[in-house]
Amino acid sequence: MSKVFKFGGASVKDAEGVRNLASVIETTKEKDLVLVVSAMGKMTNSFEGVVSNYFSEPTTIEATVSEIYNYHHKIISDLFTASSHPIFERINKLFKELNHFLKTTKSRNHAFVYDQVVGYGELCSTAIVSAYLSEVNIANTLLDVRTCIKTNANHRDAIVDWGATQKNIEKQVKPNRIMITQGFLGSEDTNNFTTTLGREGSDYTAAIFGYCLNAESVTIWKDVPGVLNADPRYFSKTQLLRHISYREAIELAFYGATVIHPKTLQPLQRKEIPLYVKSFVNPLEEGTCVGKGVTLDPQTSCFILKKNQVLISLSSLDFSFMIENNISEVFKLLQEFKMRVELIQNSAISFSVCVDNKFNNLEPLLAKLRERFKIKWNEGVTLYTIRHSKPVEIKALINGREVLIKQESRDTVQLVIKE
Ligand code: ASP
Ligand code: MG
Repeated sequence: MSKVFKFGGASVKDAEGVRNLASVIETTKEKDLVLVVSAMGKMTNSFEGVVSNYFSEPTTIEATVSEIYNYHHKIISDLFTASSHPIFERINKLFKELNHFLKTTKSRNHAFVYDQVVGYGELCSTAIVSAYLSEVNIANTLLDVRTCIKTNANHRDAIVDWGATQKNIEKQVKPNRIMITQGFLGSEDTNNFTTTLGREGSDYTAAIFGYCLNAESVTIWKDVPGVLNADPRYFSKTQLLRHISYREAIELAFYGATVIHPKTLQPLQRKEIPLYVKSFVNPLEEGTCVGKGVTLDPQTSCFILKKNQVLISLSSLDFSFMIENNISEVFKLLQEFKMRVELIQNSAISFSVCVDNKFNNLEPLLAKLRERFKIKWNEGVTLYTIRHSKPVEIKALINGREVLIKQESRDTVQLVIKE
């Protein structure tokens, strides 16, 4: 039975990272493997820069693309001493293709152009990783994921056609070898244009392969020892979680724990395929297992923090209560302006909602809301979600700060705090 490994951008951000990836494969001695790789380092952000150049500042495209080219070129020059190695030609060819697209396509469809451009991040990284593994005698086959994962044409957030994908994967993934493929990408059915599964979507790609292959396990290799009970950037004391149940991990990812992409878990849960999160620095350490069994081991509280949220409070202008008709109006607008709703609270005369203003739509949303409601809002608030907490921990966390909203259910406490 095969296994699926996923290596994210941070693991292949430079030549050293690619060498380390090869040593992880050697250490684990896996031979029956699908290897899902993301774009190198922060390359997806850089390609996003090219897309915005394309629409607003076409004269700057060339400079941005050549920075990206140089980044990859430096890595292959570090990895391959012979400049005659075919990888140089391969990367040049990918950039020729990209430049051709940028010059000849005059589309105003932002999401479409986005997918055609950013996909080159993964196409480059997988070509490089595959060539390097061959170089160090790890036999492998490079597989274009776009011939496997079929999606609809909803660019930037494409929905997987599971039936077609299952068939393609069964046909193309051969057992007892190492296959390397791109995370994050798919292709649509009508014209086979590249699609993407949403930012950080490579975990999800790994889960799709795991599901379709009935894999023994899926492993996400990271620069942290596994899933921690709190983000070490904000909390001084953290604990490694050895085991998390699927259900608990889905809740944690949903509330914003960023280690695992939220879409990843449900396909794996369906087939009870364990998901391991391990350190690519210490590959023999156990890391975290998400799977069947106890909710959390060790049984401890988990802290999730989301910064830069907006709390909006509404009341009616005409003395009507904040009930169905008013609230449904509010939700329609939140959806229209792509505000992700993190928490809601209502009373007879007021309705509060904490949202993630991911797409910078606050101004136009407030303008619309003002036509119908009296509004107050707070920007830059922090939303804390704490699972399985003890009251003393909540008190210590608040530590004298102003709590705008507190909500408590059996396993979860949520706090909106003014910083
Ligand atoms: N390269 C893509 C991104 O950075 C996908 C991924 O890393 O999972 O969003
Ligand atoms: Mg990435």
